[in-house]
Amino acid sequence: MNAVSTLTEPPEHRALRTAVAALGRRYGRAYFASVVREGAQTDELWAEAGKLGYLGVNLPAEYGGGGGGITELAIVLEELGAAGCPLLLLVVSPAICGTVIARFGTDEQKRTWLPGLAAGTLKMAFGITEPDAGSNSHRLTTTARRDGDDWLLTGRKVFISGVDTADATLVVGRTEDSRTGRLKPCLFVVGRDAPGFSYRRIPMEVSAPEKQFELVLDDVRLPSGALVGDEDAGLLQLFAGLNPERVMTAAFALGMGRYALDRAVDYARTRRVWDEPIGAHQAVAHPLARSHIEIELARLMTYRAAHLYDAGDDAGAGEAANMAKYAAGEAAVHAVDHAVHTLGGNGLTTEYGLASLITAARVARVAPVSREMILNYVSHHTLGLPKSY
Ligand SMILES: Cc1cc2nc3c(=O)[nH]c(=O)nc-3n(C[C@H](O)[C@H](O)[C@H](O)COP(=O)(O)OP(=O)(O)OC[C@H]3O[C@@H](n4cnc5c(N)ncnc54)[C@H](O)[C@@H]3O)c2cc1C
Repeated sequence: MNAVSTLTEPPEHRALRTAVAALGRRYGRAYFASVVREGAQTDELWAEAGKLGYLGVNLPAEYGGGGGGITELAIVLEELGAAGCPLLLLVVSPAICGTVIARFGTDEQKRTWLPGLAAGTLKMAFGITEPDAGSNSHRLTTTARRDGDDWLLTGRKVFISGVDTADATLVVGRTEDSRTGRLKPCLFVVGRDAPGFSYRRIPMEVSAPEKQFELVLDDVRLPSGALVGDEDAGLLQLFAGLNPERVMTAAFALGMGRYALDRAVDYARTRRVWDEPIGAHQAVAHPLARSHIEIELARLMTYRAAHLYDAGDDAGAGEAANMAKYAAGEAAVHAVDHAVHTLGGNGLTTEYGLASLITAARVARVAPVSREMILNYVSHHTLGLPKSY
């Protein structure tokens, strides 16, 4: 990788940013807020972004994608978020599921899924979190066992986003290694209507069109073609999807942080309760300046992680993606907090719409891997400190 390429954006990336930002502004926060209020989905924006090639910008051109990488997809999500209308399922459908299928799927799986994921006519959810495993994915118990040529998949998942609108969920299960008897991770495509598959909405205090669900898989019968990738490849395949997920969550957080900061700066420039605008007071201006610095630093690490991933350096991308997700999640939480406070009472009104970002920003702190688990990772893997658990 060229070191300069992590620090400056090539013209085609800048052009993509400008074009996506224009699309985002055309829909804007008012559209997003009305979709949330009505319990609807951002279908119009999703469809238009699909037609313009933005949803599949990272997927292979031979399957209808843009032939780019996670870098381009992160730009799309960041810019839509900065315009106030993020598409959370970009983190899941093209970034995790599309990437894993493009890298490890069979020709048939690629033909079945990639053109639709790229066009936005098909959507996939991703299910790894389990009620009794949480941050400790070594404890996953969703298990697949062979039954003739088929698989039978049984288990439970929680907090899975977008299952109601997804055509299928890519479920992380485990198969038993016949040699050692130990369980190893495997990925299965489970169609929304598969017998034995059911889902129930989890009420959440997050204002977003995308809802979270508990999944129950009760001996779901799957054909052999539902297994994505090699039964024995295990963690390598899983992290091919999880690193893009972290980069994309960072991009989601950056967009939200930028959106909140812009609202606060606009307000601080014009709101007067003394002779000068409130932004002239350093107690108001400095937290906003600090947030801007945090966001810019997190952006550098986010696009460094994306570059490493796109360059095929899975190990380097893993560390960078963790650090980017940490930095962007924290930057978003701080930016939203300062933005809400800058607006005084208006920060808590429905009209100004910032208070709902308080919980939304916290999602980037806990998911898909929590702040503490990233600190654990950096302590052990990067700094070589002993493990506490
Ligand atoms: C809005 C939303 C959308 C989501 N969407 C999806 C999705 O689409 N698919 C999916 O699979 N999952 C999804 N998740 C789940 C998310 O990835 C998990 O919530 C997250 O991984 C944390 O797991 P947990 O909630 O079980 O927390 P727990 O693992 O129970 O952790 C609780 C707290 O303990 C801390 N903790 C745990 N272990 C340690 C340790 N060893 N050291 C220090 N601290 C520790 C954690 O940091 C955390 O603060 C979503 C979650 C949310 C909130």
